[in-house]
Amino acid sequence: MGYSRQREMMLSVLRGTSSHPTANEIYDEMRKRDPKISLGTVYRNLALLSEKGTIRRIDSDHDSVHYDGCTHPHYHFICSKCGAVSDLSVTPINLNTAVEEETGGKVAGHTLVFYGECERCIKF
Ligand SMILES: [Zn+2]
Ligand SMILES: [Zn+2]
Repeated sequence: MGYSRQREMMLSVLRGTSSHPTANEIYDEMRKRDPKISLGTVYRNLALLSEKGTIRRIDSDHDSVHYDGCTHPHYHFICSKCGAVSDLSVTPINLNTAVEEETGGKVAGHTLVFYGECERCIKF
């Protein structure tokens, strides 16, 4: 399979889930579709696609990195206990404008991640 087909498969894996998978989870899912895929290729394509802005990379507080096929601006809440990543409907409050006013620069975007304990982990 060529590199571009692998990237297409990666995009379909990422866009078909809202679980914000890690590289290893993406690798497992892709291997179900093509057992010949290597983890190195998965990492390379993830780096390439996040650099191009086709997917989003989300860094959590404990070293794990998650990926999101949805590039529409939205915030995330990450559970520090179980690592679950959820999308927030809280809308970005004109932070970009505020920063532009303060700096006189032009903001292209920003990242903001909320950490804590998810509802399920609080209950147990
Ligand atoms: Zn949790
Ligand atoms: Zn998301």
